[in-house]
Amino acid sequence: MKLPTEIFRDFTVLRIPLRQRFRGIDYREVALFQGDAGWSEFSPFLEYGAEESRTWLKASLDAAYKPWPTQFRSEIPINATLPIVPVDQVSRVLSRFTGCTTVKIKVDDFEIGAGLVEETLKIIPNAKVRLDVNGGWNLAQARTYIGQYLERFGEVFEYIEQPSHSLNDLRELKRDGSVKIAVDEAIRKNLSAPMESLRNAADIAILKWQPIGGFEAAHILADRIGLPVVISSALESGIGISHNLVLAASFEKLDYACGLGTISLFESDICEPPVVAKNGLLEVKRVVPDPELLKKYQAAPERVEWWSNRVTEIFESEGFREELA
Ligand SMILES: [Mg+2]
Repeated sequence: MKLPTEIFRDFTVLRIPLRQRFRGIDYREVALFQGDAGWSEFSPFLEYGAEESRTWLKASLDAAYKPWPTQFRSEIPINATLPIVPVDQVSRVLSRFTGCTTVKIKVDDFEIGAGLVEETLKIIPNAKVRLDVNGGWNLAQARTYIGQYLERFGEVFEYIEQPSHSLNDLRELKRDGSVKIAVDEAIRKNLSAPMESLRNAADIAILKWQPIGGFEAAHILADRIGLPVVISSALESGIGISHNLVLAASFEKLDYACGLGTISLFESDICEPPVVAKNGLLEVKRVVPDPELLKKYQAAPERVEWWSNRVTEIFESEGFREELA
């Protein structure tokens, strides 16, 4: 199979080092290409199969070929994202998110997590803190740990993101009412479930441009779920972040800072200037990659071939093009 280069114009694969390990990876690989409306990005994580990556490619093509949705604002408030790092590195990580006073902290083990919260509050005393557990706790652990966090730090928590995997457990935690609950992974894993089950399991829905399948798909889903949304990145380059930003701008109501400052976790963006927050904000605008940076972070030929095969496999698969229309 051959990549349809007339559709995926200037197809380029980049491999960008992360400053520290995040969600189990040290490098982020992304594919970029141009369509009639501008640059776009296709970057499902490497462990995702072709089937799971279909919605990502739909989002990519959508952004490359269709005009951007109507925008209700030109700047988006951004939260800092703190990976699980040694406590002495917290200030260095947070310093890259200038002006961000909402901090999302990845947590797993209670003591290590509490150390990160404590250090964050030393650096940003008025911080609004979100904990992202990525479904790591069972119901009993979640109740214990949430109780301990609240006892130790009081009212600093804006919400707890995906404390447990199961919707039943999340519903119990929401019912406990001690803190707001956000759903992230559970949305994508329960797309065919009745939306009341999501609505009853959380207070906030985390939506991501690529995994959800683009702007329109995100709005349809948000309407069905009926919860306030937070737009968050899937660790895209500046190109993908720009599409996430316009998605955030296209919601009439946006009550929370968005998780789109993640370029600060990369060694470098491929856009110049990089798409990183200033004064806690990011501007909504189309961006283009910088030729020098494209050269610098160009992936090896076998990786380009891998990505080109992945794109072609999905694009040529049964029914895919019909679904685009
Ligand atoms: Mg999450």
